[in-house]
Amino acid sequence: MGDDRAERIAEFIEPLRVEPGSRVRLGEDFDPGYKAGIRKKEDGVELLRSGIELLADYQRRLAAQDTYGVLLCLQALDAGGKDGTIRHVMSGVNPQGVRVSGFKVPSDEELDHDYLWRYTRELPRRGEIGIFNRSHYEEVLVVRVHPENLRREKLPDAARGPDVWQRRYREINDWERYLSDNGFRVVKLFLNLSKEEQRIRFLKRIDVPERNWKFSSADVRERARWDDYQRAFSQMLSATSTEWAPWYVVPADHKWFARVCAAAVLAHTLIDIDPRYPEVSDAARRELAEVRRELEAEAPEGAAADPYAADAGAGERKREKKHKKHR
Ligand code: ATP
Ligand code: MG
Repeated sequence: MGDDRAERIAEFIEPLRVEPGSRVRLGEDFDPGYKAGIRKKEDGVELLRSGIELLADYQRRLAAQDTYGVLLCLQALDAGGKDGTIRHVMSGVNPQGVRVSGFKVPSDEELDHDYLWRYTRELPRRGEIGIFNRSHYEEVLVVRVHPENLRREKLPDAARGPDVWQRRYREINDWERYLSDNGFRVVKLFLNLSKEEQRIRFLKRIDVPERNWKFSSADVRERARWDDYQRAFSQMLSATSTEWAPWYVVPADHKWFARVCAAAVLAHTLIDIDPRYPEVSDAARRELAEVRRELEAEAPEGAAADPYAADAGAGERKREKKHKKHR
């Protein structure tokens, strides 16, 4: 990776990062319509394309190295664009290396366990990128805005006092630290949508027949609690953006821009991990040479002993010639 490119990505995502220890007031600190000065959607799409290529390359190395894993947590208000972000950003990546998990209202079995249990079960393996479509952060968002959810969690009295949210922030920070200390990087994105853009997207779900299935009147009821959610998100972002797992607030009013940001944050994490293909030992290299000799000896009459090497050599010579011509 050219340091240039890595540096440009780091600069690009810096304004989205929630400084650990800072106090976030969503409405004032982050603009959902921000576009980093990129005027045309086409320019953004081009940027996304190169981001997707970069991710594909890094993901192959992450899988080959099999040492680190990445957990990408996506939170948003309804119609924030989580699904589309996942679909676009991961479109170039080998599906075998990615595991997407969505979290809905907890089941009876899940409610019979501690609140982090169901998230732990879906964690990525080493070499994988895990995506949480909604995440353990629901436990301090929807559960906080609707306290009846907390009652359903069957907690002992001592564990549901007024300090429950502060305690959960601490437990979540500790859990993420444990994960990152053990080779699993936690990346957290909040897709920050404006109230007006949400209104427009809900209307689109009503007006376009192919989108009717996405419309839910429950989502509109949640919209009435907008201010409560903004407050819960602000407090959560302030308390759980840490050095080991910072939050990024992604401006989400322009879908294409949100996707560019998500790809950039994920790319930044992978560049930082810098996964390498495993080194082949001298002994293994000798064995490869030995097997190659055996395979070459099996070539049928008239066939090249190693057509792949011959081809690769020709390709290399052709590229050199072209390069010279253009110099
Ligand atoms: P889509 O964007 O396609 O609508 P979704 O993620 O909103 O997908 P839904 O089935 O519509 O999926 O909604 C899931 C619901 O589950 C959300 O309203 C969310 O707040 C709720 N939920 C998630 N986790 C919890 C939890 N721990 N306790 C209570 N409710 C939860
Ligand atoms: Mg929904």
